[in-house]
Amino acid sequence: MPPTDAMKRIEGRLAPGSTIGIIGGGQLGRMLAIAAAGLGFRCHIYDPHEAPCAAEVAASFTRGAFDDAAAIAAFAAPCDVVTYEFENLPTGPLDALGDKLRPATRSLTVTQDRAAEKRFLDAAGVRIAPWAAVDDEASLTAAIDALGLPLLLKTRRFGYDGKGQAWVHTTKDAAVAWDAIGCRPAVAERGMDFAAEFSVIAARTKDGDVTAWPVSRNIHDAGILRRSEIPPGALIDAQCGEAVNVAAMLAERLGHVGVMTVEFFACAAGPVVNEIAPRVHNSGHWTIEGSMTSQFEQHIRAICGLPLRDTRLVAATVSMDNLIGGDLAQWDALIAEPDAHVHLYNKGEARPGRKMGHVTRVG
Ligand code: AMP
Repeated sequence: MPPTDAMKRIEGRLAPGSTIGIIGGGQLGRMLAIAAAGLGFRCHIYDPHEAPCAAEVAASFTRGAFDDAAAIAAFAAPCDVVTYEFENLPTGPLDALGDKLRPATRSLTVTQDRAAEKRFLDAAGVRIAPWAAVDDEASLTAAIDALGLPLLLKTRRFGYDGKGQAWVHTTKDAAVAWDAIGCRPAVAERGMDFAAEFSVIAARTKDGDVTAWPVSRNIHDAGILRRSEIPPGALIDAQCGEAVNVAAMLAERLGHVGVMTVEFFACAAGPVVNEIAPRVHNSGHWTIEGSMTSQFEQHIRAICGLPLRDTRLVAATVSMDNLIGGDLAQWDALIAEPDAHVHLYNKGEARPGRKMGHVTRVG
């Protein structure tokens, strides 16, 4: 028998059998739904595509546009809590969900606009790359004068996996870079000289409890994450205490409920925040097998008001390699490897640059 409303929320906890709405039906939604099912929850996916990969592992699916307020309200009505798997969502239709939405829209408004995010980070007093808002070629020229070269131009909105970015190495590159990002409102960041990249993945409950996972070193190629590995090396080890404190402080200032990721550059002066993702993250996929608790289960726990679990490693070494585009051709070899955990997202066409799956090796 499904739980009654009274049973569903016992002291703020959502009971098994309750329904979790997930806005966005990509691989992150898919892995959230798998974790939620393990805890006895039902997931309802909302996505504009016909057959998103999260829908095939969820109890129900509604196809609808992210800006369709009426459709989102109808989708959310029977859900006991609603969450999201990516940040580029119009917030208007979500504001109406009130406390049912976890994390709340503030985590979206701050992180979906790079200029708003940088103002938030500046106000929090954390180390970030020197930056300037760029709205036209004249302000790009002013940014070059103020920040020096090289600098990286990034669109304020809708950038991911290195998309919507262009380097400016000389003043002659400025017009080409401005064109390359589609002449859209942007931020210019000083090109940082970093030794390595890493991320802190943390979960926060409504009551302010925070857990973070051990930090992984992240290796990117052309703006796309290729590999995360633990241990991250001495240089990152020396910076991760400060970085974890920064991530916990940022989660607190956002009032974030759920998992949140902060990406860092390990620079000589200390950890420099690159960006915040208000969600589970590709660099945390290793937690499924490499930690006592996966980022996906912890997110479900946090949004359902359940206690957070232990985030310790289960082995001294863990690595996660993304399977991107044509990497799927390695499947024969990977599936025969006795200690490789192969995850495929069943996203259909293996286009170049598209994340199709990942492989985790523990110990
Ligand atoms: P983002 O989309 O902001 O995460 O950027 C994608 C990748 O570009 C990062 O993981 C870095 O490898 C590189 N990158 C971003 N911002 C900078 C910067 N200010 N200086 C140097 N490299 C950067």
